Amino acid sequence: MTETMGRYDVIIVGGGPAGLCAAMYAGRGRLKTLLLERGMPGGELLNTEVIEDYIGFEHILGRELADKMTKHAQKFGAEFLTDTVATVERDGDGGFVVRTELERTFHTPAVIVTAGGTPTKLNVPGEKEYAGQGVSYCAVCDGAFFKGADLAVVGIGAVPNTELAREAGLACDDGIVVDDRCRTTDPRLFAAGDWTRPPDAAPGRRPRPESGHDPADPGTRARH
Ligand SMILES: Cc1cc2nc3c(=O)[nH]c(=O)nc-3n(C[C@H](O)[C@H](O)[C@H](O)COP(=O)(O)OP(=O)(O)OC[C@H]3O[C@@H](n4cnc5c(N)ncnc54)[C@H](O)[C@@H]3O)c2cc1C
Repeated sequence: MTETMGRYDVIIVGGGPAGLCAAMYAGRGRLKTLLLERGMPGGELLNTEVIEDYIGFEHILGRELADKMTKHAQKFGAEFLTDTVATVERDGDGGFVVRTELERTFHTPAVIVTAGGTPTKLNVPGEKEYAGQGVSYCAVCDGAFFKGADLAVVGIGAVPNTELAREAGLACDDGIVVDDRCRTTDPRLFAAGDWTRPPDAAPGRRPRPESGHDPADPGTRARH
C-alpha cells in the first residue's frame, strides 16, 4: 500500500558526498530537508579504503569521512531515510512527487539528484578479486599509491545511474547536463556530483552557447 509521508522544502536523492554536502547546506539554510539513500550514506566513499586527496584530511578512511559528512549534514537538521527512489515526477502544482521502492510518497517543490555513477568494469579475470588492491577506478584519486610500480592504464570512465533521469525525461547520454548552478534542463530539478556532466565536458557534447547554457530555456526543457 502506498504511504504518503508528507512535504519537504527539498528532497535529495542519494547520500554520497554530493548529496551529503547538499543536505548540509539545505539544512543550514533552514530548509526542511529529506535525504533518501538506498544504502548506507557515503556512496563511493564506502568503497574507498584510504583517502589522501581531500583537502584538510591528509589521510582518512573512506568510511570515516562518510561518517563525518553524515553527522555534519544531520547536525543542521537534514532528515535521512533508507529507501530507493523509484520515480521523480511532476505534480499538478509545479512541484514534484517522489516515490520510493517501499511505496512511500513525498511532495516537494525542489529535488536535488545526486545518484552518483558506477565505474565501468573491464570484466577481465582478477578484476573483481583485486578491486581496491591493485585495481583502481580513479587515476587522480589512487595514482599516487602506485608510485614507482608498473601500471596498465585503461581509460573507460563511469556510467551515471541514469534510470531516474530517463524516468524524469532528462537528457542523459553520458551524464545529466547541468550548468554551473547545478540546474538541469528541468526547472527546480537540480543535480550534482558524479551523476552529472557540464554541457561541454564530454566528447561529442554540444558546446556551451556563448550566452551560456540556460536550463530554464523552454527549448531545452524536459518533457513531462
Ligand atoms: C574505488 C574508488 C576510489 C575513489 N577514491 C577517491 C579518492 O581517493 N578521492 C576522491 O576525491 N575521489 C575518489 N573517488 C571518487 C569519489 O568517490 C566519487 O567522485 C564521489 O563518491 C561521487 O560522489 P556522488 O555523491 O556524486 O556519488 P556517489 O558517491 O556514487 O553516491 C551516490 C549515492 O546515491 C545512491 N543512490 C543511487 N541511486 C539511488 C536511488 N534511486 N535512490 C536512493 N539512493 C540512490 C547510491 O546508493 C550512493 O550512495 C573514488 C571512487 C572509487 C569508485
